[in-house]
Amino acid sequence: MILMKDIYKTYGNGVTALNGINVEIEQGEFVYIVGPSGAGKSSFIKLMYREIKPTRGLLRINNRDISEIKEKEVPLLRRNIGVIFQDFRLLPKLSVYENVAFALEVIEESPRNIRKRVMDVLDLVGLKNKSRFFPNELSGGEQQRVSIARAIVNRPKIVIADEPTGNLDPDTSWEIMKVFEEINNSGTTIIMATHSKEIVNTIKKRVIAIEDGLIVRDEQRGDYGYES
Ligand code: ADP
Repeated sequence: MILMKDIYKTYGNGVTALNGINVEIEQGEFVYIVGPSGAGKSSFIKLMYREIKPTRGLLRINNRDISEIKEKEVPLLRRNIGVIFQDFRLLPKLSVYENVAFALEVIEESPRNIRKRVMDVLDLVGLKNKSRFFPNELSGGEQQRVSIARAIVNRPKIVIADEPTGNLDPDTSWEIMKVFEEINNSGTTIIMATHSKEIVNTIKKRVIAIEDGLIVRDEQRGDYGYES
């Protein structure tokens, strides 16, 4: 359902971040993206939610060639893809409830259904009782839970996370991983860039290693493979 064929990405400054990526990821997979800093992991991830466009190559998501879609179609693509960042990126002036509701694409939904959808996802991430709190009243782990709730409230088929545990302590990171596993168990594809050797070596999933803009390893139930 995600297909990359001979994908290259060269930035405006002439740096080539991706150097001929070929990969296929099926619906429902859980994939770690690993590799040294500067290897191209973020570029790989940004392609999938169309933060950047490939310089050349084929990138197909759900049978659509997304390098060819028009700017006005990008919001539609993003509705099917939830994105989670290392630094949470919540809106500081909105409550937990509002941060999640804000992301919900309201398509003729009744206020009652909207409320139910938002409270259901907050329940899933364990934050139902903090819906009225503001981001600065939450721990890092709780803020990341809100950002996960926001990413899944539209029930996307794919969730992409760029070092989601990068700012969290180990205990909190394990809790966040449990949430990701739960989301994956309901059939959602998870693609997660990480530097956590402990997580990759403990919660075994497919591992794609990128170095110098190329996939150098792609293994089911793989190891992290680097010293961290
Ligand atoms: P990683 O996530 O593995 O650290 P990135 O994809 O962020 O790797 O970066 C790969 C290479 O592309 C690096 O050399 C980086 O400096 C360069 N790069 C990333 N983003 C940009 C950008 N917006 N403009 C120019 N060069 C960039």
